[in-house]
Amino acid sequence: MAEIPSTARVVIIGGGAVGVSSLYHLAKAGWTDCVLLEKNELTAGSTWHAAGNVPTFSTSWSIMNMQRYSTELYSRLGAEVDYPMNYHVTGSVRLAHSKERMQEFQRAKGMGLYQGMNLEVLGVDEIKGKYPFIETHDLAGALYDPADGDIDPAQLTQALAKGAREMGAKILRFTPATGVSRENGEWIVHTEKGDIRCEYVVNAAGYYAQKVGEWFKPYGGRTVPMMVMSHQYVLTEQVSEIEAWSKEVGHKLPLLRDVDVSYYLRQEKGGFNIGPYEPNCKAHWVNPSDPMPDDFSFQLYPDDLDRIAEIVADAMERVPIVGSAGISRIINGPIPYAPDGNPLIGPMPGVPNAFEACVFTFGIAQGGGGGKVLAEWITEGCTEWDMWSCDPRRYTDYTDRDYCIEKGKEVYGNEYAMHVPWHRWPAAPDRRKSSVHDKIRELGGQMGAYNGWERANWFAKPGDDTSEEATHTWGRSGPWEQRIKEECEAVRDSVGVLNLPGFSRFWIQGEGADEWLRGFCTGALPKVGRMNLIYVSDKRGRILTELSCIRLAENSFVLITAATAQWHDGELIRNSVPEGVTVRETTAERETLIIAGPKSRELLAPITDADLSMGWLTHQHATVAGKKAFLIRVSFAGELGWEVHAENADMPAIYDAVRAGGAKPFGMWALNSLRLEKGYRAWKGDLSTDYSLLEGGLERFVKFDKPQDFTGKAALLAEKQRGVKKSFITLIVDAKDCDAPYMSTIWHDGKVVGETTSGAWGYRVNASIALGMVRADLAVPGTELEVEIYGERCRAVVQPDQPLWDPENARIRA
Ligand SMILES: Cc1cc2nc3c(=O)[nH]c(=O)nc-3n(C[C@H](O)[C@H](O)[C@H](O)COP(=O)(O)OP(=O)(O)OC[C@H]3O[C@@H](n4cnc5c(N)ncnc54)[C@H](O)[C@@H]3O)c2cc1C
Repeated sequence: MAEIPSTARVVIIGGGAVGVSSLYHLAKAGWTDCVLLEKNELTAGSTWHAAGNVPTFSTSWSIMNMQRYSTELYSRLGAEVDYPMNYHVTGSVRLAHSKERMQEFQRAKGMGLYQGMNLEVLGVDEIKGKYPFIETHDLAGALYDPADGDIDPAQLTQALAKGAREMGAKILRFTPATGVSRENGEWIVHTEKGDIRCEYVVNAAGYYAQKVGEWFKPYGGRTVPMMVMSHQYVLTEQVSEIEAWSKEVGHKLPLLRDVDVSYYLRQEKGGFNIGPYEPNCKAHWVNPSDPMPDDFSFQLYPDDLDRIAEIVADAMERVPIVGSAGISRIINGPIPYAPDGNPLIGPMPGVPNAFEACVFTFGIAQGGGGGKVLAEWITEGCTEWDMWSCDPRRYTDYTDRDYCIEKGKEVYGNEYAMHVPWHRWPAAPDRRKSSVHDKIRELGGQMGAYNGWERANWFAKPGDDTSEEATHTWGRSGPWEQRIKEECEAVRDSVGVLNLPGFSRFWIQGEGADEWLRGFCTGALPKVGRMNLIYVSDKRGRILTELSCIRLAENSFVLITAATAQWHDGELIRNSVPEGVTVRETTAERETLIIAGPKSRELLAPITDADLSMGWLTHQHATVAGKKAFLIRVSFAGELGWEVHAENADMPAIYDAVRAGGAKPFGMWALNSLRLEKGYRAWKGDLSTDYSLLEGGLERFVKFDKPQDFTGKAALLAEKQRGVKKSFITLIVDAKDCDAPYMSTIWHDGKVVGETTSGAWGYRVNASIALGMVRADLAVPGTELEVEIYGERCRAVVQPDQPLWDPENARIRA
């Protein structure tokens, strides 16, 4: 039996594909003093029974990056570690039943091209050329992904394990971790065979991750947001026709996914593997009467063919030879789900030196890339690609048990659904409501969730179609279009109000707060009584976050940031403040109204004692409607305006008074359009660690000559000397029905030269706007480019480096 080492740099708990890939990548990075603990045999969790499909397809840039990397790794791994592996790169055919689905494919194709892949959109008459046995009469087309395939998950895990061991890392099988404790800034991982002291610990426990996560609660941890679904695939007997065909052509059939019906169909030796994601799905271990067993190693759930029979029958109609074979076996196993179906990879919220690499729903396809990302988090403190889509901190404390169950089932039952921009997934709404929520709903507010907080996206009028079906479009037009236009026009011509609960707020106080902030951010601090934007860089000079910095006194500041950034920025701040400086978070105690438009002063004057002549970027305490409030003269909408911050209990009276003064309610979608016209960036779209501050056009927020050695200073200085590769631009696009979504490719002279980071229609400038990044030499006003929007290349012109609307900011300063 292997000896338990008494120390290690990193201990990974869990020996599935993901844990072992994490170990392999740590060792690759030179961190060989790492130990992996597996309670049973490697692969005993979800990994051993996985179907092993390895797609690259995604409409998320980061997930596509991770999956693409996996395919590249798996192609070379067998030879690299000298371990034979069944990895079949068969290609895949993904079927479309609608025009909208074809648009989705076009989008993935564009993104794939940018990542160096050759996804191909097929017309109906081309499908049989790739997949001879299929019925195509009711299809709109397909997407062919040449890099798709399947791998034996056990062989993959063993190959990664061999590679890791040969580099010096240790794997201890049949060694369950039984708990953790912390002493003198180190972790102690307990096992029945002894303790291991380590610097870092990783929860890679797959569907057991919530159980393991509980151990970290005394050290600041939270309940891991997840649940467990049962997923089945059906193996058929051999089909002689397929065997003969494969023999003749020398390869397997491509993997087939009928995403609108919701299944994958794969050739498995001479037979088939059919894997449905059924809408009437089943969660496991979610009731007290059905608790998760302590050990489910190498076990399966009982078959439940009834649940998937309809989809299996559909597959048999689509590829009739499948129906000629009997069913030989059904595999029904557990898959963990986070509420959005993406894994948790990165810092464990609230806990020092602890990480998560768990809750993978597609851990075979994403395991290779996931291990790389996890290892980068530990060894570098940051990742090559922006990985917010998988960051554990994207979920804060609204994700209770019911939320996780309802969302997990919704994601599973819609595993292949399109994520159209106007659609709200309906499960588990209303986790956090503002004090005026009911008033907003009565006004027709169509809500969206922002870090669990309900905010209006747009306001419907009686008779508007607010059904889910109406939202199934990538296009601009829909029942909301006219309303967004009216809301933007009210802000332009008169005054509008938007209730924003959930702004993340941190009150920073104490001797030395100013000096700390100067070293924390890249730029200059505001004077007392004023506010400005500050940016935080990572060590590579890339954009970590943007905060509004409000200076109340020499050493008293309020930092305000996006709702979704609550735990990300909270942690960044708390982990960095020196002793003597206190951080008090008031996110849930206060709400904000954005009041914007040329008549906002007129509206406020009779209901406030504030000095409304105080200039842009000032702030003051005052009363509004007789209630205590804090007013900031700022406007994300780009008009004269104030943010009114107040205690939750006081907000209804203030809201009523503002409405009585004639403010038209507007929603987040109007705000998005308005901010684009001002070129204001949004976090994790335009502002992400995929870009440096200099690439992002934020040099005016970098104070190179200040004495403080802020994070990223050296990297930014070096980049400044070298010159940037990419530059931020604003484009006016000759878009047709659809505006540019994020990560639409930008073309010039037949080459891909950049990507959009956001886009929408601007109702004040009456044009389709996109923000984006292009090769630096093309960021010249007047340059003609093309933006590929759902497959259609649209002419686009680079705009001067100033807001499209009110370039002098005269309206804001009015
Ligand atoms: C039927 C089915 C088909 C699937 N098909 C695919 C597919 O085609 N493609 C794809 O990408 N994904 C597929 N999946 C999903 C895939 O199986 C998982 O996403 C993946 O295996 C997760 O890997 P993991 O390493 O995160 O977790 P796991 O494989 O579950 O590994 C976690 C490990 O942690 C260990 N562990 C737990 N607690 C402790 C402890 N206290 N101490 C030590 N060890 C501990 C467990 O024993 C386990 O081995 C499928 C799943 C199912 C059920």
